[in-house]
Amino acid sequence: MLHAGARFHPERVTQDQEKGTTPRGVQLHPRPIGPIAGIKPTEQVISCHKDTSILVFPGKDGRIGWGLIAKLSNACIYPDCPRRLSPEEIQVMGESAADLQVYRDVRFRDLWERTAPSARASTMLHEGLFETWSCGRIVCVGHSISKMTPNFAQGANTAIEGAAVLANVLCELSPLEARSEHEIAALLHNYSRRQLKRLQIIHAISESVTRVHTRANWMRKALGRYVYPYVPGLALRTFGGVIAPAPYLEYAPLPRRAAELAAWKCSGNKSANAAKWICVLFIALLSCTLWYAIRASE
Ligand SMILES: Cc1cc2nc3c(=O)[nH]c(=O)nc-3n(C[C@H](O)[C@H](O)[C@H](O)COP(=O)(O)OP(=O)(O)OC[C@H]3O[C@@H](n4cnc5c(N)ncnc54)[C@H](O)[C@@H]3O)c2cc1C
Repeated sequence: MLHAGARFHPERVTQDQEKGTTPRGVQLHPRPIGPIAGIKPTEQVISCHKDTSILVFPGKDGRIGWGLIAKLSNACIYPDCPRRLSPEEIQVMGESAADLQVYRDVRFRDLWERTAPSARASTMLHEGLFETWSCGRIVCVGHSISKMTPNFAQGANTAIEGAAVLANVLCELSPLEARSEHEIAALLHNYSRRQLKRLQIIHAISESVTRVHTRANWMRKALGRYVYPYVPGLALRTFGGVIAPAPYLEYAPLPRRAAELAAWKCSGNKSANAAKWICVLFIALLSCTLWYAIRASE
């Protein structure tokens, strides 16, 4: 297994010319700060603005972790892109977001000013999924082959799932039985085939969620502004239906709480159907309104 540093030279592992990961934006993420009046403990806030989203994670004790995600102003493709921001650039990014609303009366400046400059850091956020994950006896998991923004919060989850699938595949190798290089390469290739389809779906959702959070166009803005906030539990159950059927260690007993999974999957499916119909109705309504508006202006 390779650490994430391998993603900077994926061609050395995969020996092909797959597209690189594309930096989508940059995130500021400081160490947690003290409680702020107006932000309730344990109630996560996602504040969506044009090309920017603010994520706020208050803990049980009210201490707050936050992240500011901003789309890069210039499109760039790896490796021709910056690795991180300088302290001056971090300052400019934070100050330019100062007036953005986080929740009710709370503005971004309330988070920013409580965060010591030494506690502010930045990370370049990439999006990208490679199709080749192994070469001979070398195999990649996690960030080295799959990178998404934190908006859908599935980067670490899918990295752990990948490790579980790889463990299942390796379990098929008996230590007593000699295997040829070709057989081992085929087994490792099998690991990526098992996980790739699931990751393609999760990446598609992650990219969509990121664009809803950053109001990429009027449709995403309308979904984020008028659909998800007014249908309680819609996001959780819709996405839960995709997340729940995750791979697990096939050679170890399932923990008892995994029994609850089946019920979650079911409710996820029902809500996914409900969500589909709400979206269809919403799009139909918008199309009719646009059609009437165009007719009226003629
Ligand atoms: C702000 C933020 C919030 C996130 N929130 C979530 C979340 O809520 N849920 C979620 O599922 N995911 C989340 N993620 C994504 C998650 O952090 C990553 O997907 C996950 O850490 C990837 O794990 P990894 O082991 O593949 O890579 P990494 O965590 O990047 O680990 C790679 C390790 O290799 C080390 N390394 C690199 N180069 C070398 C070298 N040359 N020699 C030795 N060691 C080296 C690094 O120091 C690092 O420790 C978030 C990411 C960010 C930035």
